[in-house]
Amino acid sequence: MRKLTERALVIASHNQGKIRELRALLDPLGYQLSTAAELDLEEPEETGLTFEANAELKAVAAATASNMPALSDDSGLVVDGLDGAPGIYSARWGGPERDFQLAMKRVDDELRATQRNNRQARFVSVICLAWPDRHVEFFRGEVEGVIVWPPRGEQGFGYDPVFLPDGYDRTFGEMSSDEKHGWSHGQDMALSHRARAFKLFAEKCLEKKSA
Ligand code: IMP
Repeated sequence: MRKLTERALVIASHNQGKIRELRALLDPLGYQLSTAAELDLEEPEETGLTFEANAELKAVAAATASNMPALSDDSGLVVDGLDGAPGIYSARWGGPERDFQLAMKRVDDELRATQRNNRQARFVSVICLAWPDRHVEFFRGEVEGVIVWPPRGEQGFGYDPVFLPDGYDRTFGEMSSDEKHGWSHGQDMALSHRARAFKLFAEKCLEKKSA
């Protein structure tokens, strides 16, 4: 696996919720960070059929356009009772206005319309690190939970208010960013899909600091 030795890194995203979370994860590592949004980079169309394919499209586009290594996250909510939907289409279920009240309601409505109303679900995050020569590395994180209704909490973004992680009594929408990442449970614990993918990235791709 290629190590990240460069000190400057582009966050390949225009999604402010995601950028906020990736910044919080990356900040302690001391990188010189910029985002695709700040650099005014074009957003590639997400034509892939997997989280990996879309993560690669975004990271390679940002790395080649900026000539710096770039880190992307492609993520979504996978609901068992909806045969994995909205999955890679999670952002698109919010419509052109990215209205997630509407998207959460659609998840609940479609679940109720099924016979079993199986609300088991997971958030998936695939982080892709790409270099300007198009070399890529992938890291996948998942967190299991159930879909609740009505939505609970105002924190986080996207589908957070309807996702109750297994073993917790508060939705991601009711958790602070530190709780959602899992950091309030101790240094080595990661809770959210994104924090779990990020932990793999940090363990495998970063040079270990000598003591
Ligand atoms: P994309 O990866 O930019 O294509 O979009 C991912 C979409 O999945 C987001 O717009 C959210 O709707 C949803 N999503 C991904 N991660 C999270 C999360 O941590 N909380 C809530 N929703 C999320």
